[in-house]
Amino acid sequence: MLTLLRSLVQEVNSARDLNEALDIIVSRVQKAVGTDVCSVYMLDPTTDRYILMATEGLYRQAVGKVSIAPSEGLVGLVGSREEPINLEDAPSHPRYLYFPETGEERFRSFLGVPIIHHRRVLGVLVVQQRENSRCFDEGEEAFLVTVSAQLAGVIAHSEATGAISGLSLTGERATDVSIDGVPGAPGVAIGEGVVVYPVADLDVVPEKTTDDIEHELALFEQAVMDTRNDIQQVANRLATQLRREEQALFDVYLRMLEDNALPGEVVNRIKEGYWAQTALKQVVQQYLRHFEMMDDLYLRERAVDIRDLGRRLLSHIQEGDPIEVVYPERTILVSEELTPAMLGEVPKGRLMGLVSVKGSINSHVAILARAMGVPTVMGLVEIPVHQLDGKELIVDGFEGQIYSSPSADMRAFYEVIRKEEDELVKGLEALRDLPCETSDGHRVSLLVNTGLMTDVVRSLTHGAEGIGLYRTEVPFMIKDRFPSEQEQREYYREQLEAFAPNPVTMRTLDVGGDKSLPYFPIEEENPFLGWRGIRVTLDHPEIFILQVRAMLKASEGLNNLQIMLPMISNVSEVEESLHLIYRVYHEVREEGYDVHMPRVGVMLEVPAAVYQVRELADRVDFLSVGSNDLTQYLLAVDRNNPRVASLYHSYHPAVLQALVRIAQDAHAVGKPVSICGELAGDPGGAVLLMAMGYDALSMNAASLPKVKSVIRSVTRDWARGVLADVLLLDSPHVVKSCIDLSLRQAGFGRYLRPGKASMAALSEAVAS
Ligand code: PEP
Ligand code: MG
Repeated sequence: MLTLLRSLVQEVNSARDLNEALDIIVSRVQKAVGTDVCSVYMLDPTTDRYILMATEGLYRQAVGKVSIAPSEGLVGLVGSREEPINLEDAPSHPRYLYFPETGEERFRSFLGVPIIHHRRVLGVLVVQQRENSRCFDEGEEAFLVTVSAQLAGVIAHSEATGAISGLSLTGERATDVSIDGVPGAPGVAIGEGVVVYPVADLDVVPEKTTDDIEHELALFEQAVMDTRNDIQQVANRLATQLRREEQALFDVYLRMLEDNALPGEVVNRIKEGYWAQTALKQVVQQYLRHFEMMDDLYLRERAVDIRDLGRRLLSHIQEGDPIEVVYPERTILVSEELTPAMLGEVPKGRLMGLVSVKGSINSHVAILARAMGVPTVMGLVEIPVHQLDGKELIVDGFEGQIYSSPSADMRAFYEVIRKEEDELVKGLEALRDLPCETSDGHRVSLLVNTGLMTDVVRSLTHGAEGIGLYRTEVPFMIKDRFPSEQEQREYYREQLEAFAPNPVTMRTLDVGGDKSLPYFPIEEENPFLGWRGIRVTLDHPEIFILQVRAMLKASEGLNNLQIMLPMISNVSEVEESLHLIYRVYHEVREEGYDVHMPRVGVMLEVPAAVYQVRELADRVDFLSVGSNDLTQYLLAVDRNNPRVASLYHSYHPAVLQALVRIAQDAHAVGKPVSICGELAGDPGGAVLLMAMGYDALSMNAASLPKVKSVIRSVTRDWARGVLADVLLLDSPHVVKSCIDLSLRQAGFGRYLRPGKASMAALSEAVAS
């Protein structure tokens, strides 16, 4: 069964579209179960009806025509009960619905299983059997359930293709379907998708044809020659180190490159009119399918060689034919994995938004995007990215969603949001030099989170009072080796100078988890629970010491440096770090630098730290909550995983209780406490944190004016009232609604993004 499943999934995965995928499923399942009929009904979200999409055994002409409401028939029943239904005599069931156009009257027994992806019923897989024959047994039922669970993801993927082109299952215009990811940088962008590809990745090569067959043939032939030379060279180089039989592997490679083997097939496809890269991709994939389906383990392993060969050929084709990308006026840059270099290619003024299939809010590109103010969505699962090329796209960087080929209503809705955002930001500029203080005189410091110098420039114009979190890993990420002490000193000096005499809080290197340095890779099974933050730098004191030296020297004459330690889960980590910081401080002074001992603080980001606030606070000068990680670790929800994004809630009652406790415990021992996670930049979150007693809120520059405007217009008592109300609640969703309602009543409705429910009303208003 496993072999069958594996080959079925592979075949379906490489189908060109949903219809082909479903045809493969019904024919293979019908054979495997040895039954008369196998059909798939898919739920069309546009019409909310199950449509017969593929069948083996019913009349083919019924495909695409027969449709069933969820409240009708046995198919509707399977879908709404979300469980298999296995009947010996289907026609006698009260929900049996007969469709003459299918020819279904000949069949008695019925087994239907739902196809469910991430809790959403996508469709129903049905097998049927003729009169007077067997009913389906438990084993068959289990098989069908397994097939449907395996195929749900693959089907969802094919379905996304429809969503991208704006078409429903039946090829009609679909209602707008969002493609979900995670927010990378806030804001809304509307523009045209331009898909860019990393070099030599066969999976992302688009399906393209060519008018210049001769050119493509020449390109490919040259690539084959170059690849042969490469392999010959590698073989020669290793000749003395390998035994004869091992060297034979290279002969296999070279044989695969003979004209009558793989290259011959590619040439034939190019002659059919395919672009050389596309032809190569198609042939390599066909080979891979063939090899991977083989039962012999050794032969199956040879798929790796084919893939490698494919990649080598592709890179030579690409060298000979560098792709010229045309960037339209309103470019939305899309890639499997965006890199900063790709951003740099877009002509000035044309980059409106970014979409990256891989990556997270902490990816280098997302950090850059926030600094540049470019709305960004990261981490979209299961979408065929190449299909977004040339499509009109909406990037919703607030919600982490994109829309492809949107309807006029949806576009109008987002145009309004975009305009409102622009106006809001302009309107708030006047607040720049006013203090952040409630109308009854309670003062809160508003600080900024930075990484690059661009952040600093933006935050100065937004009226930040200092830096609450300088993520020092950002300058490390843009280099191809660890920056030298002198280089670090220059980065740090810029940040310190920009805000002097106000405090600049520099966090020591926080790599690991999802933040990796290309020149210091950390490969782990469970990176968020692994070698991260302070754990890495205490194990590598040479990195820590160099960094602290650079920070201290950079602070000479300014004396506004504060040092902060990330991912602390034990007091011993604080003690060891302090020991190193003191040592460096004395050494730097001995070298003749007139520096002051910086204030040192601890980040509270893991649950253990919540229960040791006093012990940690006793050892340092200040505390700062990293609510992004604290939420992730308290709720056990990976902050970058779109599959569980709906469970990631900084308004979760458990998170709020932890935050209250931290503020109380820190103040009980007389230490100031700030917060530097995303929650601080959320107007509702800021109100709660102010009420809890947080002394400073540190956030992205873009959020600062909104937060200041809310805090300046409310009293501390009002905020405490809202906090008291929400602390009685037990669900994050209700907490969110309660805060939104309070903000609306206080006149801040414009700071809340309109929910999708109000979209119709909004677009009506736009229309009129
Ligand atoms: C946090 O975890 O809240 C935080 C501010 O740090 P980072 O997002 O860089 O992990
Ligand atoms: Mg963190």
